[in-house]
Amino acid sequence: MGKALIIGAGGVAGVCAHKCAQNSDIFSELCIASRTLSKCDALRSAIEAKGTKTVISTAQVDADSVDQLTALIQKEKPDIVINLALPYQDLTIMEACLKTHTDYVDTANYEHPDTAKFEYKYQWAYREKFKEAGITALLGSGFDPGVTGVFCAYAQKHYFDEINYIDILDCNGGDHGYPFATNFNPEINIREVSAKGSYIQDGKWVETEPMEIKREYDFEQVGKKDMYLLHHEELESLALNIKGIKRIRFFMTFGQSYLTHLKCLENVGMTSIKPIMYEGREIVPLQFLKAVLPDPASLGPRTKGKTNIGCICIGKKDGKPVHYKVYNICDHQECYREVGSQAISYTTGVPAMIGAMMVMTGKWKKPGVFNIEEFDPDPFMDALNKWGLPWIEDFDPELVE
Ligand code: NDP
Repeated sequence: MGKALIIGAGGVAGVCAHKCAQNSDIFSELCIASRTLSKCDALRSAIEAKGTKTVISTAQVDADSVDQLTALIQKEKPDIVINLALPYQDLTIMEACLKTHTDYVDTANYEHPDTAKFEYKYQWAYREKFKEAGITALLGSGFDPGVTGVFCAYAQKHYFDEINYIDILDCNGGDHGYPFATNFNPEINIREVSAKGSYIQDGKWVETEPMEIKREYDFEQVGKKDMYLLHHEELESLALNIKGIKRIRFFMTFGQSYLTHLKCLENVGMTSIKPIMYEGREIVPLQFLKAVLPDPASLGPRTKGKTNIGCICIGKKDGKPVHYKVYNICDHQECYREVGSQAISYTTGVPAMIGAMMVMTGKWKKPGVFNIEEFDPDPFMDALNKWGLPWIEDFDPELVE
């Protein structure tokens, strides 16, 4: 029984808060704090209307300010901070956790607002400080990164002596009916998909042009989809933490309409993160684009179809080759019925709650800064089945060329 402080009140925070409130034996108290207090209050009302034993409070905070965060943590005294704001706030929130000796969980690694490049070095730099303070930071407890890392750790623990090849496949077969919209924060999403692709081969990053590598894959309960190789943050940590890796890649599905719109927006300069002057004030084109696109939270009631996300691992056990795939299928409309949001937020918010639960219950409590695959995957895998993201195994999966 303990208290969590969720920072952020967007799509992912909404799901995580609902799930904490469903799990009131562990999360007896919850504070939801974000930039816009009214969003926190609306979330609290929606959860309370469904009924919960968790006592919920709300607060306003600017998560770019270490002082404000520190004061909030001192006032609320949570056992853990669940960072579901944006990747730009990771370091300020980690600083405040250090100052107050509070455990920390997030779902996306730090990115500087001016450079669309995410890497773990900024957060790994806190390893010694967190260790000395005796507190845990669990990095990347969403779906990808997050569940994908737990899947790989589970494969390594139970089925392999060494895993040589990993392909992470992220398929969203959902249709929201808009010609163009993003399923999570548009700024973060577009920065991710318009960046160069990359993968790790023999210990080195290999860079590709954006969307240069395309494959077709037949996803269970979704069907055949085109998927494209992207740079993704968990590649960096998995290449270090999984034994025997020769190559690790990440693919995400995109429909033709999405790609055509994105190309056009890129060509006219709307996806740029370089500030420009407009009518006497500085604006960032991508942030302006975010303001005119549909709010991802509004896609919930409109999105039909399923996501299918998982990992293919190829390696050896007792000298024999092993092909293994583990994945989850999630239905957008079922998620909406349960917690009022679509599957992208759901598949991220549920693991954020589970990660926080792992630390709060002591199962994953150790001092330092850790990526998710560094912990014992078994209790997390059990919790996925219990809390809405059941997984499926396949020992003869279709492979990716
Ligand atoms: P949203 O944009 O819906 O929500 C972000 C929330 O953070 C908003 O409530 C926003 O406030 C708040 N916020 C932003 N800046 C500040 C600030 N300075 N101070 C306080 N609050 C702030 O994003 P999502 O919910 O879609 O995504 C949340 C996180 O989850 C992101 O980091 C994203 O990268 C990550 N993610 C991870 C995935 C994974 O699988 N690992 C998948 C999808 C997302 P306001 O409401 O006022 O704008």
